[in-house]
Amino acid sequence: MDTAVIIVAAGRGSRVGGALPKQWQMLAGKPVLAHTLAAFAGMSVVLVIHPEDRPMAETLGVRLVEGGATRDASVLAGLRALAGTGATRVLIHDGARPLVSRVLVDRLLQALEDHPGAAPALAVTDALWRGNAGLVSGTVDRAGLYRAQTPQAFRFDAILAAHLAHPGGALDDVEVARAAGLDVAIVEGEENNLKLTYPGDFARAEAVLKGQSMDVRMGNGYDVHAFCEGDHVWLCGVKVPHGKGLLGHSDADVGMHALTDAIYGALAEGDIGRHFPPSDPQWKGAASHIFLGHAIGLATARGYRLANCDVTLVCERPKIGPHALAMQTELARIMGVETDRVSVKATTSERLGFTGREEGIAALATATLVKT
Ligand code: MG
Repeated sequence: MDTAVIIVAAGRGSRVGGALPKQWQMLAGKPVLAHTLAAFAGMSVVLVIHPEDRPMAETLGVRLVEGGATRDASVLAGLRALAGTGATRVLIHDGARPLVSRVLVDRLLQALEDHPGAAPALAVTDALWRGNAGLVSGTVDRAGLYRAQTPQAFRFDAILAAHLAHPGGALDDVEVARAAGLDVAIVEGEENNLKLTYPGDFARAEAVLKGQSMDVRMGNGYDVHAFCEGDHVWLCGVKVPHGKGLLGHSDADVGMHALTDAIYGALAEGDIGRHFPPSDPQWKGAASHIFLGHAIGLATARGYRLANCDVTLVCERPKIGPHALAMQTELARIMGVETDRVSVKATTSERLGFTGREEGIAALATATLVKT
């Protein structure tokens, strides 16, 4: 079956304020209608417009039809434009609902397999009152009541015939369909599929769009240091007594180096060696919190915060377990985050390989950054 979409955008809706009708106002950097159309990308769309809006509408690159004085008349103009195009199903949608999802569209088309019409709605969950002169004058039973949304989906020939037979004045296409005796299935709607009506609705829609475009970055890091003569090692900022030391240009804190590289990795900023060249004598014996502090500072400057990180130390000895909490606490302190965003754990390598032979310690780390 061939599915067409009618987007009704001929209204002059003025409750939102502003110089332009609401469907032409800007939302997150582009007109509301550009967002609405994006939800139907790849489908055959007819946009029903007010004649005055034609110059703006021509920039959107879809088929335009001029609407009538009422919503019914505008939908009928769209249906007439689609007659004879081979469309067997049609979705009729309000242009001022820019956040409709493809998942909802798919649910509607699925329901059309069994019914001539299908429309999204949400059950009313708030108590309902009647009011008069600022006082509650009665309550209404909310059982069986729904908040209707669009797109409303229909078999094409049935809804065209229903509109042609309807005297006019319907609130939506479900009302037209029911007047013609068509069954309309209720499909679960979406709370985010809001209709822009009042000025505050734009801020709410922008918040939803921002959430959908959330910038999340992951990085990983790996480091190895060899054992040498000594009586302690530094691991994740904690001095751990041990029969050997770790060899390195800095304090050789292998865990903190892996974590620092993970953060640089998430930012696509190379590794510690790029920012603190081993050839530069000023970093000789440096405490590794300088490196970690630099990486997290770079993340903050770019507008990211650390969502979580996970460090795994690979060694037979020293035993990490007794020190893991202190390591977690110290890493969290250096990075300025809550301790439950930091994980430090350890594994042996079953006496295999260089870590198994106790020639050195390896560390792996993963970090997730989220744009704030
Ligand atoms: Mg290192």
